[in-house]
Amino acid sequence: MNYDDNNIFAKILRNEIPCIKVFENETTLAFMDIMPQAQGHTLVIPKEPAITIMDLSTSAAVDLIESVQVISRAVKKAMNAEGITLFQLNGEAAGQTVPHIHFHVMPGSILGAKHHASTMADPVELESIAQKIRSAL
Ligand code: AMP
Repeated sequence: MNYDDNNIFAKILRNEIPCIKVFENETTLAFMDIMPQAQGHTLVIPKEPAITIMDLSTSAAVDLIESVQVISRAVKKAMNAEGITLFQLNGEAAGQTVPHIHFHVMPGSILGAKHHASTMADPVELESIAQKIRSAL
């Protein structure tokens, strides 16, 4: 399968559609999931175009994990979470809905979390959570 330049995260990276950004560096971007499974659910994506972890270059994978670590620490602190769940789906058969690789950083446990990509959050509430995460970076 070829990378689709028009997937929603590619559009976010090109600033063609907005996101609630919490962190950006040369190689990665982190923003609030608009259908969070728990309060503070954040996505971390590489700027390199790749559908799954298998398609990503090693150096982009290293940079991505570094940012996942940074965001995990900030989300944990901002949300006062005792634990952080990371998950990352590869391919439609695994449940991936956006074909640009991303890590989910979610406070708490997957058990008891809301359904995947199901309910839109209030953008005002998302922005206020994003501010807490930015302050915790
Ligand atoms: P996955 O199913 O692992 O590909 O996850 C895609 C995630 O992206 C889901 O959790 C969606 O809620 C989230 N999502 C979809 N569109 C957007 C968007 N425009 N901004 C932020 N998050 C999004």
